[in-house]
Amino acid sequence: MEYFSTRGGPHNLSFEEAVLAGLAPNGGLYIPTTIPKLPNNWKTDWKDYSFVDLSVAILSLYISREEVSESELRDLVVKSYVSFRHPEITPLKKLGARKYILELWHGPTWAFKDVALQLLGNLFEFFLSRKNAKAGSSVEKLTVIGATSGDTGSAAIYGLRNKKNISIFILHPKGRVSPIQEAQMTTVTDPNVHNLAVKGTFDDCQDIVKTLFSDTDFNAKHNLGAVNSINWARILTQTVYYFSAYFQARRLLGLSADQEIDLQFVVPTGNFGDILAGYYAKKMGLPMEGKLGVATNSNDILARFWKTGRYEKVDSSNVVEVSKDSSGVKETLSPAMDILVSSNFERLMWYLAYEGIPDGTPDRREKAGGTINDWMAKLKIDGRVEVPIEVLEAGRRDFCAERVSDEETLETIKNLYLDPSPYVVDPHTAVGLTAAKRMEQDISTSTIQIVLSTAHPAKFSEAVTKALYDIANFNFEAHVLPEEFKGLLSKERRIIEVESANVELVKKVIESKL
Ligand SMILES: *Cc1c(COP(=O)(O)O)cnc(C)c1O
Repeated sequence: MEYFSTRGGPHNLSFEEAVLAGLAPNGGLYIPTTIPKLPNNWKTDWKDYSFVDLSVAILSLYISREEVSESELRDLVVKSYVSFRHPEITPLKKLGARKYILELWHGPTWAFKDVALQLLGNLFEFFLSRKNAKAGSSVEKLTVIGATSGDTGSAAIYGLRNKKNISIFILHPKGRVSPIQEAQMTTVTDPNVHNLAVKGTFDDCQDIVKTLFSDTDFNAKHNLGAVNSINWARILTQTVYYFSAYFQARRLLGLSADQEIDLQFVVPTGNFGDILAGYYAKKMGLPMEGKLGVATNSNDILARFWKTGRYEKVDSSNVVEVSKDSSGVKETLSPAMDILVSSNFERLMWYLAYEGIPDGTPDRREKAGGTINDWMAKLKIDGRVEVPIEVLEAGRRDFCAERVSDEETLETIKNLYLDPSPYVVDPHTAVGLTAAKRMEQDISTSTIQIVLSTAHPAKFSEAVTKALYDIANFNFEAHVLPEEFKGLLSKERRIIEVESANVELVKKVIESKL
């Protein structure tokens, strides 16, 4: 299997090259040359597979054996999931007769990003050691740099801590991430992990990281690597839990081999990585009767796209709406989904553009790349792009979308706690549940909804407390906070303070630690 950029170009990359590169030099994202079909007997052969077995089976369809052997892949996968606290890795829980929740937060940082970042860290280390074993005297190292407003940082740190020949630098805005998130990041004291608390905003941190990546000298000197959600390995890894959910649902319902199951997945969405994995699963052949449900908070660029066919940063039909900061991102109770544009959406747009070009057209792939280039240029210059109606209709065949407000999010957390038995969800999951409820009217009565639960509620104490504070006997520490979190705030920390949001200062810190 090979990979190419959504913005075109004649060269295909191996899996290793695509994973190490992250973003393509022309700004595009890597996608596989074909979406592989599932083996004929997958439903019977895979039905009792563990999460590790499923990962090996699915990843093998996208990674050539010559690149990574089956036993090497198995070792990497096993190593990635030993730290998870649940034997199913991503357990499916029943919430109601036709409603299930897929808990994706049993990894080390209690959020779904662990599922992919644990494996990505191991892949980086594996590829580097192999290169170094071949290279002889010169040792290749990787310097991972990222900015975080909270969640990604800790999952990346836990994925890369203690990895050979890899250093990780995570910039966060000083004092502007939640106490638990800050503690999760800064109490990792492995020598290869560096937390930079920058006096400034999240946008300042992100700008610094962008500047460092575009600094060709600095980049070449330190071999910079990215762990953000555009990395293909993250999307690929996340397809596994859609299959896991399918088999778990069949087992919970006690279905016989000849009975099919009608599923709809609903996904709290920010950068469109998690739900895109569901799209790949569907295209591979995982049965999904219901459309994939995109659930957004009031940063609703995606919900607006499915309504209008316009992908635009600011809602042009509602210009009176004011945002809280100059970048246009609104602060919500589900901060991991506070985005202006969704980076992985470009991958879906490529497939939609490709489908719009008649079968058999010469250079169809290049033409789709050209279309993406045009759209992305428009988005950059005008802040918006409108796709042709056929493209929108193609998008509507596989997806539906709903926007959810903070008030509704709180209401859902509360209602779920009160009925039927106390179950506490985090605000992102609550956005998904609220959207799922609205989507019920468009699915058949036999369809079962699976809502992806992206974080443990203890990570977002502000929203959870706000939703539940007036319920008699509710106690956050007793009912929500896991034992593992209790000692975290008092553990030893390692932080490097950066006095101002200045690229040169950050460079100095990085170079002093390498
Ligand atoms: C990152 C994140 C999301 C959004 O996932 P995307 O892949 O960016 O769409 C949702 N919920 C939580 C808790 C997250 O950390």
